[in-house]
Amino acid sequence: MIRQWLQSFPHLFYPHVCEGCGTDTLYEHQFLCSRCVHRLPETKFFAAAGNPVEKLFYGRCDVTAAGAAFYFTKHSLLQHLLMQLKYRGNREAGYFLGRMMGRVLAASGRFDAVDLLVPLPLNPRREFERGYNQASLLCRGISETWHKPVLGGRPSSGSGSPIPKPGRTG
Ligand SMILES: [Zn+2]
Repeated sequence: MIRQWLQSFPHLFYPHVCEGCGTDTLYEHQFLCSRCVHRLPETKFFAAAGNPVEKLFYGRCDVTAAGAAFYFTKHSLLQHLLMQLKYRGNREAGYFLGRMMGRVLAASGRFDAVDLLVPLPLNPRREFERGYNQASLLCRGISETWHKPVLGGRPSSGSGSPIPKPGRTG
């Protein structure tokens, strides 16, 4: 009883709520509640050869496989998460989206030959202003669920942010 009360006490000051709907009925390790996770519109592209993203490269460059994890629409939960990542300094949004991508990449089997995740570098001035490279956060999230190493190991920003706890979901 006392232990439960002590664990709940910090929530009075730092409430842990779903980034999508604001509910506080989610586990400590979750970023989004299960309902909001299911609201994200998965494309299933990673598992499909000849998907629309791969077709974008046809005749332009030689790409073995490509994909996108989610459909983007305006005023959606995904747009909210991307805004959080890009403009609100919400690193957890990057880790979360990365973990989701890592799961579908691992499940597809079409990308198993990948040896290394390489975050696209960000303009140094932009990275300084933002404090981190969002691609690095995404790659760290992907690595957590797909178990592929990331070039550089840690974000180049040297932000010192802790590595997310293993096994995080949602
Ligand atoms: Zn929610």
